[in-house]
Amino acid sequence: MKRLLKLTLGLIIMANVTANAQEDYKTVHTKNEYTVEKKHPVKIYTEDELRFKKRPKNIILFIGDGMGVAQVFSGITANGGMLNLQNMKTIGFSKTQSGDNYVTDSAAGGTALSAGTKTYNGAIGVDVDGNQVTSILEYAERNDKATGLVSTSAITHATPASFIAHQPQRDMYEEIAADFMKTDIDVFIGGGADFFTKRVDGRNLVLELNEKGYKVGYNVDDVAAYSSGKLAVLTAVGHNAGYRDRGEMLTKSTSKAIEVLDNADSKGFFLMVEGSQIDWGGHQNDASYVTGEVLDMDKALAKALEFAVEDRRTLVIVTADHETGGMTVENGDMQKGYVKAGFTTGHHTGIMVPVFAFGPGAEEFQGIYENTEIFEKMYKLFRFKEADKDK
Ligand code: MG
Ligand code: ZN
Repeated sequence: MKRLLKLTLGLIIMANVTANAQEDYKTVHTKNEYTVEKKHPVKIYTEDELRFKKRPKNIILFIGDGMGVAQVFSGITANGGMLNLQNMKTIGFSKTQSGDNYVTDSAAGGTALSAGTKTYNGAIGVDVDGNQVTSILEYAERNDKATGLVSTSAITHATPASFIAHQPQRDMYEEIAADFMKTDIDVFIGGGADFFTKRVDGRNLVLELNEKGYKVGYNVDDVAAYSSGKLAVLTAVGHNAGYRDRGEMLTKSTSKAIEVLDNADSKGFFLMVEGSQIDWGGHQNDASYVTGEVLDMDKALAKALEFAVEDRRTLVIVTADHETGGMTVENGDMQKGYVKAGFTTGHHTGIMVPVFAFGPGAEEFQGIYENTEIFEKMYKLFRFKEADKDK
């Protein structure tokens, strides 16, 4: 009996370690300075190159988790004074307060952006009473659009999860992975393979994905030749490595997702791309981590902007779920790509975050508004009917 108890306790502790390993980025080890290793190219489009149609057929939403104005300016400074982001001339601010807290977490922040609902911290695609709320990705699916998610964390982590799953708590990673099976998402690329295969319920979701017709890969390079049809790429067992060690994963994944979605037999597409680890650099008060991640997301953004300019019917939005670290830029050197930052906390803050928009409908994103408005604006711009909204 004693042995059994010990074994059970051991298993519980092991399970906890696995769950907590998903959150171990929250340890502070302050690093205030960053100097860029290699500045990346920036393409600034002229007015003549930008001839958009009136309405967007496609929306690409970038979420820089934890990306406030200081994080953005740290990236601008490090890259010599310019980012691809600066092509996005329509700018607004989003108020990030959650349904139960002045300071949101990424689950409530994600649900506000995805479904236009203020909910409690920790909630994934459910409202304050625990009722499911429909996300823009799910509405897009219903309206015959192709859909996709790309993330540098596990694809089951709070931000991407809130676009596709409905669970009362964000750490229910296996339940969240199972929720992917209930949808017809066309492409998803991110970490978290273990939540699909090493499951308490014994299901092997990779086999189920195969049965549903998905091509499943484990590295975005392995699926380079795959340009249409359902695609799932589980790029890490848990989270992906930080920007220094994961190479061009985010840029390649963004390009691949756009290619697959553009080739889908559908009436346009919705794609969410997350730069997840800007937040983790903020939690750690690590200016180098934050800035490296911002630069990485800007490289991926370049691919989306390039597509949008060519396509003319694609709206690109860049925003954040909240700010992390209470970061500021104390000093810097544009020429050297040097940044000196300061942090006021190892947690999220309540300050509003920027919203950048580019393409047809961009003008809707001016002003200061609640984070839930971003969902409403996307819903309206997609011309989905008000009457078709779930109550
Ligand atoms: Mg996130
Ligand atoms: Zn965070």
